[in-house]
Amino acid sequence: MNLEFSPEEIAFRDEVRAFIAESYPAQLRGKQDEGDDLTKEDFLSWHRVLAAKGWIAPAWPVEYGGPGWTATQRYIWSEETARADCIRIMPFGITMVGPVIYTFGTAEQKARFLPRILSGEDWWCQGYSEPGAGSDLASLRTRAVLTDDGQHYIVNGQKTWTTMAQHADWGFFLVRTNPDAKQQEGISFLLIDMKTPGITVRPIITLGGEHEVNEVFLEDVKVPVENRIYEENKGWTCAKFLLAHERAGIAGVAASKRGIERIRDIAGTEMDGDRPLLANPFYRRKVAELEMDLTALEFTELRTLANEASGKGSGAEANVLKIKGSEIQQRITELALEAAGHYGAPYFRGFGEGDNEHPIGPDWATRTAPSYFNMRKTTIYGGSNEVQRNIIAKMVLGL
Ligand SMILES: Cc1cc2nc3c(=O)[nH]c(=O)nc-3n(C[C@H](O)[C@H](O)[C@H](O)COP(=O)(O)OP(=O)(O)OC[C@H]3O[C@@H](n4cnc5c(N)ncnc54)[C@H](O)[C@@H]3O)c2cc1C
Repeated sequence: MNLEFSPEEIAFRDEVRAFIAESYPAQLRGKQDEGDDLTKEDFLSWHRVLAAKGWIAPAWPVEYGGPGWTATQRYIWSEETARADCIRIMPFGITMVGPVIYTFGTAEQKARFLPRILSGEDWWCQGYSEPGAGSDLASLRTRAVLTDDGQHYIVNGQKTWTTMAQHADWGFFLVRTNPDAKQQEGISFLLIDMKTPGITVRPIITLGGEHEVNEVFLEDVKVPVENRIYEENKGWTCAKFLLAHERAGIAGVAASKRGIERIRDIAGTEMDGDRPLLANPFYRRKVAELEMDLTALEFTELRTLANEASGKGSGAEANVLKIKGSEIQQRITELALEAAGHYGAPYFRGFGEGDNEHPIGPDWATRTAPSYFNMRKTTIYGGSNEVQRNIIAKMVLGL
């Protein structure tokens, strides 16, 4: 495994750096610096800049609008965007349903949906999980029944934890089309216009005070049959393909590196008695352990990239990356909260709504508690870490 970048890769990295410095929306940067909540428009402002440049979908094939980057260029891209604190592009269109559509969709479906995913015109959400069907996803019960004329499905059921569904124009849903078949064999993959009558989106407010996830109720929702991807009752094939894509990007190595840098900055200036917090051997040890674990994870990711580049399958690496990556993301927020100490407590989002008083304590402390609570999700979504361990036990250890 050669870890040196070639001169062309270094030139690419410089081009990326210059592009971000020039083109990242100033208003978005301002809101991030202030710690303000980001709106749909904020998310889309960066999306549109990347779409115009042709860089919005790093992993897509060129024929569908990808930039034709190598795995190493994609790695450089994720490093540089994290380094520059760029917001993350919403994954539901670009990373999840887009690849399903170009892999399993018809020519009409590709022409209809892919350009609008790239441009950001359609915001997508993922309707997989249900109350009672999370880790055991194949037990899902949302039912889709074909009308007598075979032109539509009538969908009834409930989805939950649907991230950002409050903004979504479209959702991709797993629905049961054959209740008599074996679980995995009776599921279909439907694209549903979220404005269709019969859909109700209700917020779930999370521990950090955020409106990020929702419940979605479907009552007699009429969906044209041409919105089904792939064959009826073969939706599990699309679902598994998509989950593999979801997990691959979930390690967040580049963002965690930036997170640790931030912890070092904070702990280098925050005082613990008469010395900086970073001089406290207990705290310093935790930072050092975190850095070592992240370096090990980075090398595992690089090995995965080297395997991909040489055409070898990635085996269980995606599962390892998911477990370790998510644990590291959580540990970073734990160290930030520890550094904030009491100043982390009063800034629970929502308490200060409409309040024009500046919070006490350092500015960086305001978001430590919400982000600590928010990041508890990382070991649950994308397939919980316990379930990832089961997969490794089976695939790698043969247990
Ligand atoms: C913030 C957030 C955002 C999400 N966004 C979306 C979204 O946009 N769309 C969507 O469809 N879903 C979404 N999810 C749902 C997510 O995929 C599920 O929460 C996840 O699959 C776990 O399912 P569950 O919550 O039903 O927990 P359960 O499956 O009930 O699991 C509960 C606990 O039991 C453990 N467990 C379960 N089965 C096993 C087993 N076989 N062996 C060992 N331990 C086991 C789990 O690890 C977990 O600790 C989101 C979840 C969160 C937290």
